[in-house]
Formats: sequence, C-alpha cells, structure tokens
Amino acid sequence: MKQELNYDVIILGAGPAGFSAAMYAARGNVKTAILDINMFGGQPSNYLEIENYPGFPIIGGFELMEKFEEHADKFGVEKYPMVEIQRVTLDSEIKEIETADTIFKTKTVIIATGAKAKKLGIKGENEYKGRGVSYCAICDGAFYKDKIVAVVGGGNSAVEEACYLTKFAKKVYIVHRRDELRADKIVQERAFSNEKIEFVFNALPVEIQGNNTVEKFIVQDVKTNEIKELTVNGVFPYIGFTPNTENFNAQIKQTKQGFIETDENMQTSIEGVYAAGDVRNTPLRQVITSAADGAIAACSAVKYIETHTPVKVS
Ligand code: NAP
Repeated sequence: MKQELNYDVIILGAGPAGFSAAMYAARGNVKTAILDINMFGGQPSNYLEIENYPGFPIIGGFELMEKFEEHADKFGVEKYPMVEIQRVTLDSEIKEIETADTIFKTKTVIIATGAKAKKLGIKGENEYKGRGVSYCAICDGAFYKDKIVAVVGGGNSAVEEACYLTKFAKKVYIVHRRDELRADKIVQERAFSNEKIEFVFNALPVEIQGNNTVEKFIVQDVKTNEIKELTVNGVFPYIGFTPNTENFNAQIKQTKQGFIETDENMQTSIEGVYAAGDVRNTPLRQVITSAADGAIAACSAVKYIETHTPVKVS
C-alpha cells in the first residue's frame, strides 16, 4: 500500500528553475515539495564554472546549485531526490504524482524538469558511450590527458567545453556543421586564441569507429561531400538539448520540439500547472532565466491557490 502525501505545490525537477520556484513557493507560505528523478542540482551541477550569474563573477556550477538548495531549505521545502516517477495526472483538480512508494497529491504542479543532451544519432555513438563517447566534459575530461578529442557543435556548450578539455587533451577538434559558430563572441574569441583547438567547419558527423574504445571520428564536408577521418580518442557531442517531458507528453500543450508552451505567468495549457526553465518554450536557456521563470511560476501557483475555490485534498 502506497503512502499518500498532500501538498499545495509540487515542483518536478531540482535545477535552477525548480529550486527558485521552491524557495518562492515555500516563502509564500504554502506547503511545498520538490522531487527529482536524479540527485539535486540539474544541469548546472555539471558546469565547471558559471561566469554570467549576476552577483557571482565566477562560481562553480555545483557550488551555485548548493546555494540554491540551501536557500530553499531555509523556507522549509520538503525534498525528495532520486524518486522513480511512475505516473503523473495533471488534468484533474487535485493533481497526482505516483512514485514507487508514494502518491503525492497537490493543488498545483510546477514542471521544471529541464532538458537532456541531444544525441548525434550516428553509427558507433551508442556502442562507444562510456568508452570514448561522453556528454559531460567536466565528468570525463580528466580521462583524456595528452589525448585527442573532438567536440561537436557550435554553441556555447560545445565551445566552452572544448576550451575546458584543452586543460587535459593535447588537441581538441571543434566539429561544426556550418562555418560560423553560434556561441557568444567572448566564448568564440577564447576558443580562436587557444592553440590546442582546431576547427573543422562545414562538417557533419557520420560515424564513430574504434576497437573497444574510440579511435576515429568520420565526418563529411557539407559542401564537397568529402569524407574526413579524424583520429581521436574521444567524442563529446554538445549539440543542444531536448526537453524532459516524457511523463506529460499526452497531457500538455508543447511545441513541435516538445518544449512546454506557457504564457507570461508560466501557466501551461492545464489550470494549476506551470512550467519553468529549460523545459519551457523560451528564447534563452540560462541559470538566470530559469531562476526567474521559477519565481514567476511559484508566484502564479500561490496566487492560484489563494484565489481558487478551495477543494479538500483527500
Ligand atoms: P545550442 O546553442 O542549441 O547549440 C547547438 C549546436 O549544435 C549548434 O551550433 C547547432 O548547429 C549544432 N547542432 C545541432 N544539431 C546538430 C546535429 N544533429 N549535428 C551536428 N550539429 C548539430 O546548444 P548549447 O550550446 O547546448 O546551448 C543551449 C543553451 O544553453 C543556449 O541558450 C546557450 O546559450 C546556453 N548555454 C549558456 C552557457 C553560458 O552562458 N555560460 C553555457 C552553455 C550553454 P547550428 O549552429 O548550425 O544550429
């Protein structure tokens, strides 16, 4: 028999949006819980350094997320890390989240489940995952001391992580499908002036090959169709993210790419359900925008609870 727990606000996802929402909701004096299928902290926990969160000219990603969590703790948020979510029912007055041992009942839900790394979808990617293919430079970079690696993508993530990998690797290729990077200019400049980085522009990933571990990265020139073999020990795809919406897909309005649609109050297509951060359809995905989304979502949820006809949670 599963236990039943009742809340006013349940936040799904414990990254910057989730913790900000948790802090604002609990400070708004409503009973608040935060759940995550992983350890707390979300994506920024894996970032070596964050240098664009106001008030902290430079801070480790893990350290910043610890501060978010401590701040939410201060207002008495109840925390459930590493939960296995089996069912989410959003379209009823009292929403339900069922885990392995608990049925959580709540008046409002804030979805802050973030996004996960996109895969290249090429031959060898799955086969060599953990044996040369990695989606986390900060976790695995140290394994590539004096080795050669390729980073795929032209955004901030790819270019920043490529710079980070030069601390270990003797050479880092940045393989990008166009001849122009998407990353911020300041980030680009750092990469262009780094002698260990070699750019492979107009190149599409084709295949990752090896013999137990990665040995070659095959790419194709988009203009000439010429195939090029890069001799590498590791491939780090950083080609963007897809939203973590598996538990809500059939219930909530989303963009074609799966990001959740909201209005400016973070209200989704379902009454009493809000979305915040990277999972939402938003023009900017940063710690600060996620935190701001979380604050708005929590204030909207608190207002909804205060103005909505009270229902008995049973
Ligand atoms: P992103 O900005 O969406 O960039 C993804 C890159 O991967 C693009 O250059 C894209 O090429 C390329 N790409 C996409 N699909 C591909 C495929 N199938 N094959 C090959 N290349 C592919 O993603 P991101 O760099 O992860 O950044 C996500 C968000 O987080 C952004 O808003 C970014 O600014 C933010 N971010 C900020 C920081 C920071 O400020 N410190 C750090 C990291 C991330 P095209 O350019 O041709 O589309």
